[in-house]
Amino acid sequence: MAQLTPETQAALAAQLEYYRDLGIFDYYRRAASSVLEQPLALEVLSEPVPEPQSIPEEIPIAARKAGPSLPLLNPTQDYAKITGKGAPALLEIRAEIGDCTRCKLSVGRNKIVFGDGDPQARLMFVGEGPGADEDAQGLPFVGRAGQLLNNMINAMGLKREQVYIANIVKCRPPSNRVPEPDEAQTCMPFLEQQIAAVQPEVIVALGSTAATYLLGAKSALGTLRGRVHASRGTKLIVTYHPAFLLRDPRQKKEAWADLQIAMAELGLRASKAAPAES
Ligand code: URA
Repeated sequence: MAQLTPETQAALAAQLEYYRDLGIFDYYRRAASSVLEQPLALEVLSEPVPEPQSIPEEIPIAARKAGPSLPLLNPTQDYAKITGKGAPALLEIRAEIGDCTRCKLSVGRNKIVFGDGDPQARLMFVGEGPGADEDAQGLPFVGRAGQLLNNMINAMGLKREQVYIANIVKCRPPSNRVPEPDEAQTCMPFLEQQIAAVQPEVIVALGSTAATYLLGAKSALGTLRGRVHASRGTKLIVTYHPAFLLRDPRQKKEAWADLQIAMAELGLRASKAAPAES
């Protein structure tokens, strides 16, 4: 029997570890020959089915918008080198924000956390607001919750660089409290401009604060999950915040179901069956 290379074994182990992290334990595997051809083509299924399915090797998310692959838009980036439809507009928005003192969050912040990722992304994630790590680095979702978000993005068959990530507020609330309505409302116009610049096809709201301000109304997260909403001309899907998933990992399976809705909307292949109960 042919052996997997150490690199393939390591990649498979990492993928399996992450699916375990998502609370998914049962897999269907292709016949050995096709596994060797497509080493990461694992399917996440609750029980074996006759027709093998796989997460596509070619990630269609990059296909729709032609152009060079774009570097991240972040505070250390040489902005002059960024090209693409969304990038110039994002630069203008960042310039307009300036050294912002429009709300009281500016008092305690270290760095403004503007956003990160592909200015032409088809998929955008919106969180609540920066935490300590984000405030220190000036980039969204770079702490523990960010690591989980990266894993969620990878599980969708994507890289972090292929999506765009932003928050409802761009400055860290003291002690990581929920942003107050005046703070969120002061910052929202900039997020709205970022959405208009990137023009994502799908936005995933991470947690209640993102859902509330993107939908313009407060509802229990449980009533918002599991379906497609409309927000600013874009499809919006609501799921749990990664920080919540770190506290209650049993909900990762539900979050994965939400991400599969996003994948379906983007034409990415999603599992037909729900992940198995652990
Ligand atoms: N939590 C958020 O909501 N946003 C971040 O950027 C980091 C943690």
